[in-house]
Amino acid sequence: MIGRFILLLAMSLALALPARAQDLSALAQYAPARSQIAQSGDKLAITLGISQPVPYRAFLLADPYRLVIDFRELNFGANPPENLLKGSDAIKGLRWGKFRPGWSRMVAELAHPMRLVSSEERTKGDPQIALTLAKVPAAKFTPRKGAADSALWDLPQPAPTPAPHRRQDGTRPLKVVLDPGHGGIDPGAEDGGAHEADIVLGFARQLRDAMRRAGMQVVMTRDQDVFVPLETRVTVARAAGADIFISLHADSIAEGRATGSTIYRLDDHAETEATRKLVQRHDRDDILAGVDLNGQGDAITHILVDLARRDTQPRSVRLSQVLAGAIKGAGLHMHKRPVQGANFSVLKSPDIPSVLVELGFLSSPADRARLKDPDWRARMAAAITKGVETWAQADAAEAKLLRQ
Ligand SMILES: [Zn+2]
Repeated sequence: MIGRFILLLAMSLALALPARAQDLSALAQYAPARSQIAQSGDKLAITLGISQPVPYRAFLLADPYRLVIDFRELNFGANPPENLLKGSDAIKGLRWGKFRPGWSRMVAELAHPMRLVSSEERTKGDPQIALTLAKVPAAKFTPRKGAADSALWDLPQPAPTPAPHRRQDGTRPLKVVLDPGHGGIDPGAEDGGAHEADIVLGFARQLRDAMRRAGMQVVMTRDQDVFVPLETRVTVARAAGADIFISLHADSIAEGRATGSTIYRLDDHAETEATRKLVQRHDRDDILAGVDLNGQGDAITHILVDLARRDTQPRSVRLSQVLAGAIKGAGLHMHKRPVQGANFSVLKSPDIPSVLVELGFLSSPADRARLKDPDWRARMAAAITKGVETWAQADAAEAKLLRQ
């Protein structure tokens, strides 16, 4: 029922939205052999061959006169735009490339003012986008309205379009974002002369090295004693194209005698609230990798975020369980409830499996001693690395199954 509703919804949006938020690998390719720019008198015909139909829009800008075409997920690859320019003096320069997540842009600098006579996408046979332009006097030139918009949609630098992020399937190195908690003006917990911010940064560096030795790619949200806002930590993960996100902490508790490591993942009950908050956000640029949610209604954004989360949450749960198993398996001390749900901001990425590891409690003298012990730290780093490897293998196997 829900599936059918979403399918209808996607169709009504004229392919502007993928059926599954994360499955954006079906990238349309630019076909140079079926593309040309033909000039005849004052008319200009631009034909762009594409491997599959894509949503697009074309408009004109002034100062200088330009034709701009935005495409949803069109990969120009390494094809140089100069090859398309041959035989036309109405276009002075041509650039194309990735423009913003999920969108590509082509910009043609026009030698003189023109108007857009027609613009259509042919979907029968070999798909193509065909535009016709005609020369007009400067007084009749009508650029797209809204100066703010043209400022926002900055022109791209020529760059090949990288493929949007796709779920890891074992065919490339796993990209891990490590997030040492606190830092700078926020030292975190302080107990017995130890500072959480220092301890987790030192441990993160050690873990990074262990993971790199295991062939993973590692990005840190901070590698110094600096303050990083919680939202930024999640943004760093998205910008890095993270496969997983691991936040590292060693907090204190005022009461009780808790000891041992704990793995947190987003609480099931917190999911709905997290999605609602994301949908309310004004700037939707980086909610989902490779999906432009700007201009989408709240209902559609909610559905897409929800779909992504439905894929991601079980993967986060498995990551938390496998990590707990690996730490236990290495004979390291765990909290009596080793895996728990929590409502932490850094765990709220809808499309990146995320966990928070409380390495131990600074408030416990035994944990504090362990956290400072080089041997314990090396064993813990090895255990987490092994856990991530185990998880990644099973996760990749599932990704392959889902694709079939
Ligand atoms: Zn902390």
